[in-house]
Amino acid sequence: MPEAAGPDAPGLDAPGRDCALCPRLAAFRAANRAAHADWFNAPVPSFGALDAPLLVVGLAPGLRGANRTGRPFTGDFAGELLYATLLRFGLAHGEYRARADDGFALSGCRVTNAARCVPPQNKPLPAELRACGGFLSAEMAAMPRLRGVLALGGLAHQAVLRTWGQPVARFPFAHGAVHRVPGRPVLADSYHVSRLNTNTGRLTEAMFVAVVEALLGLVGGAPLGAAALDRAGRGS
Ligand code: SF4
Repeated sequence: MPEAAGPDAPGLDAPGRDCALCPRLAAFRAANRAAHADWFNAPVPSFGALDAPLLVVGLAPGLRGANRTGRPFTGDFAGELLYATLLRFGLAHGEYRARADDGFALSGCRVTNAARCVPPQNKPLPAELRACGGFLSAEMAAMPRLRGVLALGGLAHQAVLRTWGQPVARFPFAHGAVHRVPGRPVLADSYHVSRLNTNTGRLTEAMFVAVVEALLGLVGGAPLGAAALDRAGRGS
């Protein structure tokens, strides 16, 4: 079984391997453990340092991606565009090789999911997203330098707003939208970097790059944004 990408910080309220708050997901996890004993098959810990200024929030681990490898967006298609883009902006270093032990690392950025456990058909239920929201809330509270949140898809966007106690209707999801919630980090929206969205052209590489670039510009003014944008401009 793969190891987790790295233990979360001591004291961070993160789910244990056998978190049972979502009975349906716990049952699916048990079935996957029986069928694939060599897979991670547990709530997937976040990736990146807690002192990062940016947090990317996806929906949930993919069955053969993060649920298999134990690192968010690692091992299936969704990680290809996400991590290539983070590399482009200097928010990651190393070579992404779709394995939790590939040495790939994030800098100035952390990646998590609104639901930490893989759901059947990639679709967490509203109650499951609410249940896992406590961990997302703890995550953001434990990031002292957090200035920007990138939500991948409408459900992740809603999960972030719920943890902030904000009405979803007041801040509707839209690709490329930027939300300024008083007293909170800047929230930017993108369509999810899923194979379905990229195959259908709903999300292109250029569209995703533009959202990340805009968010960096907004939370810049600090070394992260300036350095990252400079590196991107030089095409590194
Ligand atoms: S999705 Fe979150 S709350 Fe639900 S069982 Fe997994 S770790 Fe626990």
